[in-house]
Amino acid sequence: MQTNIHPDLIALPKVQEADAILRKCVHCGFCTATCPTYQLLGDELDGPRGRIYLIKNLLEDNTISDDSVAHLDRCLTCRACETTCPSGVEYGRLLDIGREFVNEHSNRPLRARLLTFLLRLVVPRSGLFKPLLKLGQIFRPLLPAFIRNHIPETMPVMHQTESVAGAKVVLLSGCVRSAATPNVVASLLKILRHQGMDAEVVHEGCCGALDYHLSAHDAGLQRMKAVIDQLYPRIDQIDHIVSSATGCGVTIRDYPEVLQYDAEYCPRAKAIVDKLVDPIELVSGQGIEAPATRVAVHTPCSMQHGLGINGSIEKLLGEVGFEIVPHREGHLCCGSAGTCSILQPEMSKQLKERKLDVLVEGKPDVIVTANVGCQLQLKEGADIPVMHWLELVAEQF
Ligand code: SF4
Ligand code: SF4
Repeated sequence: MQTNIHPDLIALPKVQEADAILRKCVHCGFCTATCPTYQLLGDELDGPRGRIYLIKNLLEDNTISDDSVAHLDRCLTCRACETTCPSGVEYGRLLDIGREFVNEHSNRPLRARLLTFLLRLVVPRSGLFKPLLKLGQIFRPLLPAFIRNHIPETMPVMHQTESVAGAKVVLLSGCVRSAATPNVVASLLKILRHQGMDAEVVHEGCCGALDYHLSAHDAGLQRMKAVIDQLYPRIDQIDHIVSSATGCGVTIRDYPEVLQYDAEYCPRAKAIVDKLVDPIELVSGQGIEAPATRVAVHTPCSMQHGLGINGSIEKLLGEVGFEIVPHREGHLCCGSAGTCSILQPEMSKQLKERKLDVLVEGKPDVIVTANVGCQLQLKEGADIPVMHWLELVAEQF
């Protein structure tokens, strides 16, 4: 598409990057067909093409209306549109740049600002998040549903395994998952050690996704640099870096792009990403004998649209003997989408119900996924167990 960027903005490197992305879009509209918010709301401005026009208008006029901000805020950043787009429009990156400018030109409602502030304050700090999670469990019945749904009924326990020699693998514990689903990291540790790898858990803290996607870009960048500072000095001794949450995996995979204007950290980020793998690329079916269990797999958006890995969980589980139950609409988001379930609770609920309906159509015994957000989201409302696929595999040893 043709663009005419505002003269006050055109010299900025990020605006030039956004302009190059905008110019790739041929406004064909193919992406709207796979956009969950467009499918739910039916408004062109709640689809990728509409949002691309909103960002284009923002960069051309150097101003944006509150109504336009609401359409951009409703985007789940699921990147299903990127998978569908025939022109290779990097929508996720465009949105990140657009949101940075939106923040400078708009004043969101007080409730949204307060929620965003609390999320950024609590979630990345596991020292604060864990005690609050315990407190939340005590007062769970009294809390509003959109908060209650994110609090597990019982405090999960992390199991320990013995260390072995082999390829050196560093497991990132993350922030939310280390508190809400620690057994997932423990399961990955158990599987990797069982398969002969020298795996070690590193408590690296938040990967920066939360701040960055809540438009606190500077705070997000600081968290990303803190992760890099922890891993880079020993990068030569590491064979693989792995995160059990695909949401964190895709954020780390994007570090070099996000830090491209930082001459010091961009090469370090690249060195880390060179060693980054998803657990599904590391775990083999060796030594696993599955029972006759029917499994429905929900592949997170961060995995299929962000990391570009789709079908691998089904392949591994199928190879070791699980019966995979196929389902429709695999490309659609479950409504977790980072903080969407808290900031956009009604839309998130509708997407969850739609996702659960299709997942259980084939009557599976269990639903598995690969991201902490999807796991917590689907668990609340499912009549059958919802697990991380790593937990299901680790159970077989
Ligand atoms: S599919 Fe790609 S090129 Fe077509 S409108 Fe969507 S973003 Fe633009
Ligand atoms: S990222 Fe997802 S919700 Fe946002 S425009 Fe693309 S498909 Fe729609």
